[in-house]
Amino acid sequence: MKFGGTSMAGTERIRRVAQIVRKQQAAGHEVAVVVSAMAGETDRLVNFCREANPLFDPAEYDVVVASGEQVTSGLLALTLQAMGCQARSWLGWQLPVHTEGAHAKARVVDIESHALIEAMQAGEIAVIPGFQGLASDNRITTLGRGGSDTSAVAIAAAVGADRCDIYTDVDGVYTTDPRIVARARKLKYVTYEEMLELASVGAKVLQTRSVSLAMKEGVRVQVLSSFIDDDAPPADDLPGTMIVSDEEMEKSDMERQLVTGIAHDKNEARVVLTRVPDRPGAVAHIFSPLAQASINVDMIIQNVGREKGETDVTFTVPQADLARTQALLEAKREEIGFNRIITDAKVAKISVVGVGMRSHAGVAATMFKALADRGINIQAISTSEIKVSVLIDEDETELAVRVLHTAYGLDADGVAA
Ligand code: ASP
Ligand code: MG
Repeated sequence: MKFGGTSMAGTERIRRVAQIVRKQQAAGHEVAVVVSAMAGETDRLVNFCREANPLFDPAEYDVVVASGEQVTSGLLALTLQAMGCQARSWLGWQLPVHTEGAHAKARVVDIESHALIEAMQAGEIAVIPGFQGLASDNRITTLGRGGSDTSAVAIAAAVGADRCDIYTDVDGVYTTDPRIVARARKLKYVTYEEMLELASVGAKVLQTRSVSLAMKEGVRVQVLSSFIDDDAPPADDLPGTMIVSDEEMEKSDMERQLVTGIAHDKNEARVVLTRVPDRPGAVAHIFSPLAQASINVDMIIQNVGREKGETDVTFTVPQADLARTQALLEAKREEIGFNRIITDAKVAKISVVGVGMRSHAGVAATMFKALADRGINIQAISTSEIKVSVLIDEDETELAVRVLHTAYGLDADGVAA
């Protein structure tokens, strides 16, 4: 079981969490619980580091920011004990959770789970601070922001858990953002790959790395709400969204839609380089410097060549990297040989995602037609095996999401649109 920051924010909420944990144990389970710091706490600690030393040493940063989880794990163990449960905390260095030494973004290498499993078998509830690890030089590491999800999946894999329940402030993964589409539906099942695609295009429920790890280790993950009443269905009835393998999905006899979900992402920016020479190597000249600067280029279009052996190249980068991209390209103007750089940060990427499209044609055509019918112009397109993305004017984001949600038959019945 894993509880996020909003679920751990204060004594009252921790008591609610302890009740949910106790219920699972009473249902006959051996339980390990991974917790986040209280909501806002990690940000507060990061700020202290910045104030102390703007060029902070990442190893000391980890010492500071790992403390938020130490507090909540101790408090949850205390609260469980107050309810008469046997419980203890296992800090990252005590298990230990071995990681690579990259401070502030360490990767889990291996978890020593022997003592943990023994304690759980003896009926003790194990409370583990998420986010924390230990480098080979014995210094504390952290797993990157949002890393408690990854801790939970890694612990689940290490103890061979039947399930990793991630309790959060939403009750599952939806077909799209319910704030945009009132008729969005909660998904009962979603595959690892779909979840990765949805996360990478802006539907953030879990840290992306936790989903890759779950896929690699075959950990079944459920996303569910910790803000529930006493008479809410138990976690064993799978009230949330299960993230599972393709095979389990097939066995689940769910009636599959062609498209599972629709995501939007307003954090992209579009760059057009005009009149680039249309010859071998030209595109490499553009993208090599960006790759060296670790700027992630997403969609790319090379427009039809103009006369005189020239062409326009359009691509997208994260908005946060737009200024750097522009500067890098300006510096290489001679080498690349373009005429102008045109940029636009007021764009949005809309993606339809679903494993169903592997075996069906026409998913992209449906998307293009639905958008065209509403006069929405497509500025760029990219696809993967299970995703089609288009770039549009940011002002049309909500309209596009609604239109597509209806076009793929995802609207729930009986709820006002
Ligand atoms: N407390 C850490 C953070 O805010 C880790 C987590 O909660 O997942 O990033
Ligand atoms: Mg989180």
